[in-house]
Amino acid sequence: MRTKRSEELFKEAERYLPGGVDSPVRAFKSVGGSPLFITKGKGSKIFDVDGNKYIDCVGSWGPLILGHSHPKILSVVKKVLSDGTSFGAPCESEISLAKLIKEAFPSIELVRMVNSGTEAVMSAIRSARGYTKRDKIIKFEGCYHGHTDSMLVKAGSGLATFGQPNSLGITKGTAADTIVLPFNDLEAVEKALKEIGNDIAALIIEPIPGNMGVVLPRAGYLQGLRDLTTKYGIVLIFDEVITGFRAAFGGAQELYGIKADLTCLGKIIGGGFPVGAFGGEKEIMENLAPLGGVYQAGTLSGNPIAMAAGIEMLKQLKNKKIYKKLERSGQKLETGLKKILIESGEKYTINRVGSLLTLFFTEKPVVDYQSASKSDAGKFKKFFWSMLNNGIYLPPSQYEAWFLSLAHSDQDIAKVLAAVKISI
Ligand code: PLP
Repeated sequence: MRTKRSEELFKEAERYLPGGVDSPVRAFKSVGGSPLFITKGKGSKIFDVDGNKYIDCVGSWGPLILGHSHPKILSVVKKVLSDGTSFGAPCESEISLAKLIKEAFPSIELVRMVNSGTEAVMSAIRSARGYTKRDKIIKFEGCYHGHTDSMLVKAGSGLATFGQPNSLGITKGTAADTIVLPFNDLEAVEKALKEIGNDIAALIIEPIPGNMGVVLPRAGYLQGLRDLTTKYGIVLIFDEVITGFRAAFGGAQELYGIKADLTCLGKIIGGGFPVGAFGGEKEIMENLAPLGGVYQAGTLSGNPIAMAAGIEMLKQLKNKKIYKKLERSGQKLETGLKKILIESGEKYTINRVGSLLTLFFTEKPVVDYQSASKSDAGKFKKFFWSMLNNGIYLPPSQYEAWFLSLAHSDQDIAKVLAAVKISI
């Protein structure tokens, strides 16, 4: 692949944007080399500034479940665009999107629209603190919840030390209010709650993590968390920014039959525009301003263009056949990968839920952050570049999910597999 123009642009971007990007993973740091500058997306393909075409397995990190430039979404966006871009006043489309979200998530009675997943998480946490009048939060190692201060925290050396900042600029005080526990370990939660359960405002989790690569919750784990949080009066927050409308129409909550108290959404619900939302029980959500004392606001929240794109996206996704097709594509990819990897003698683990998949270069089961980090990063790096040079755009990090879309055809999957065969 020729990528001369991308390389030139990256050098220029570095003069104006820190690290040449507006979001760190885009800089290809964990795989080395220069990122591609993308000009266009259509269906399952993206095109770079050098005129190369790739089968895209990133899908803008999740929002584009119908593929790039879906004609129905483009058409509604063009239509509403001609009426103006933002009013800072209520629009009917906010109600329509909220209705669709409520329909998918029976645990949600009221929704607040925001502009990103990070914002959804930040405000859900504040709501939980306001509601419980408690300060501390539990999160899990390897789960990512955006970059709000209280979530950029790593485990301390014990419960006594609580969390430690995981980024410069986070105060020790903020970190100390977050407790980080291992994923898939119910006993660790039980033990922590026995000690400090009555101080915990919220327990936040990616019910199916996608940010340490895809990891599946053990049987009974999520139900165990549901029971424990109920017992201690803790707000259970499911961060379904990735899994909402992806793992199923009703997200992981539909898949596992569990109701969270608060749910964070993003990505898909904006149809490719910057949107997030959080919602849940009236009793908690009615604490939000202007009804209650938990302050939360946004100049562009409920933006009419983003709402229209989100509404069209969710209307399309109401067709259950879509999830069957996504599952079929995911299964085809997984089966094909396994066949190639077994033939090659490569050590691997594949975790998948529907159209989300991660190939780890380790043969041990990947069930939490510790086991995910056993994957051979050097091998991934080589694999990534060979795939890219063979026309397949994978997430440029081992610890991310491959996102398939409705636009990925059997032929696309066959091309991905053909590239894997020569890249492994
Ligand atoms: N929560 C999860 C599970 C995510 O994967 C992400 C982003 O990838 C976020 C929250 C943050 O969303 P955003 O990047 O829109 O702020």
